[in-house]
Amino acid sequence: MSYTPKKDRYESVPYERCGRSGLKLPKISLGLWHNFGDVDNFENARSMIQCAFDHGITHFDLANNYGPSAGSAERNFGKILSTDLAGYRDELIISTKAGYHMWEGPYGDWGSRKYLLSSLDQSLLRMGVDYVDIFYSHRPDPETPMEETMGALDQAVRSGKALYAGISSYNPEQTRLAARILRDLGTPCIIHQPSYSILNRWVEDGLLDALEEEGIGGIAFCPLAQGMLTDRYLEGVPEDSRAANPNGFLKSGAVKENIETIRKLAKIAERRGQSLAQMALSWVLRQPGITSALIGASRTDQILDNLGAAKAPPFSEDELHDIDEACGV
Ligand code: NDP
Repeated sequence: MSYTPKKDRYESVPYERCGRSGLKLPKISLGLWHNFGDVDNFENARSMIQCAFDHGITHFDLANNYGPSAGSAERNFGKILSTDLAGYRDELIISTKAGYHMWEGPYGDWGSRKYLLSSLDQSLLRMGVDYVDIFYSHRPDPETPMEETMGALDQAVRSGKALYAGISSYNPEQTRLAARILRDLGTPCIIHQPSYSILNRWVEDGLLDALEEEGIGGIAFCPLAQGMLTDRYLEGVPEDSRAANPNGFLKSGAVKENIETIRKLAKIAERRGQSLAQMALSWVLRQPGITSALIGASRTDQILDNLGAAKAPPFSEDELHDIDEACGV
C-alpha cells in the first residue's frame, strides 16, 4: 500500500536545538538497533518508520552493524527511504556510526581513519543516500590517536558525506579532547550519544557538565533500559519481548535483578498519570543537556505511548525523591 505522511505530523512532538548547533531534533528519536534487521518482520519495521514520521519523529538513528545480520538495518531503512519516504529526504535526520566490529581483519573495527571512512561509504551504499546527517565515532579507541579519529569525522563532513559530527560513549575527558580537536579543525562536535536512564546515571558524573561547557547536545540511548523501564516485565518475561529474544541484548537475569525497583517505579508513574515508559523518558528529558531521548520499539503502539512523554508535566521534588529512593540512590 502506498504511504502518504500525515499532514499534521509536525504537531505531535516538540523540537529542540542540539547543543549550540543550528540543528533541531525531536524530543523523541527512533533507533534501529533492534527489530529492523533481516531476521525481523519487514512490514512491521516499515509501519514503525511510517508511524514515527507521521508523528514528527524526524530523526532515525542507525549504525553500520545494526541488524542482525550486521548492515541489514541500514539496508532495510534504505528500502523504506526509497519507497515510502522518497521525496522526504530533506525532512529527515539520519545518523550512522562506526566503531564496533563490522568486518574481518584489522580495518573493520574501532577508530582508525581507514575504518571510519570506508565504513561510512558502505553505510551510504546500503541506505542508498548521498550523505548522512550525523556521522558518529561509535566508541573511543584507546589505541588510535584522538586526532586521527576526529580527523576522519572532519573529513566525512568536509567531503559532504556527513553534515555533522558526533561521538558516542566518550567519557568527560575524552569528550573535552574530542570537542577541542574538532573545533580546531573547524567541524564542531554537535552531539554526544551516551546511555542514560533512571537505572543508569553515569552521565551525571561529569559528562552533562562537559556537554554544557562544550555546547554539545546529548541524545540518550537506551532511555528505557532496553524495555525494563516499561510495563513489559511487570508480570514476567513475555515471549515476544527483547529479554526472551535470542538476538536481543537484554538478558532475563537483568530483568530479575531490577524487578523490585521497576515495580516501585511503575507505582510512581501511575500516581503521575503516566505509563512507566513515559515517566522514564520524561525523567531523562528533564535534564537541560539532553536534547532527545533515543528510543527503540518493537511495535507502533510503543512509539505512540512514548510520544506522550514529550509533553508531560514537570516532576515535583517529591516525585524525583521517590524515584531516587525506589532505585536506592
Ligand atoms: P530503549 O531503552 O528505548 O528500549 C527499547 C525497547 O523497550 C523496545 O524494543 C521495547 O521492547 C520496549 N519498549 C519501548 N517502548 C515501550 C512502551 N511504550 N511500552 C512497553 N515497552 C516498550 O532503547 P534501545 O535499547 O532499543 O536503544 C535505542 C536506540 O539507542 C537504539 O536503537 C540505537 O539507535 C541506540 N543505541 C546506541 C548505542 C550506542 O552505543 N551508541 C547502544 C545501544 C543503543 P520489546 O522489544 O521487548 O517490545
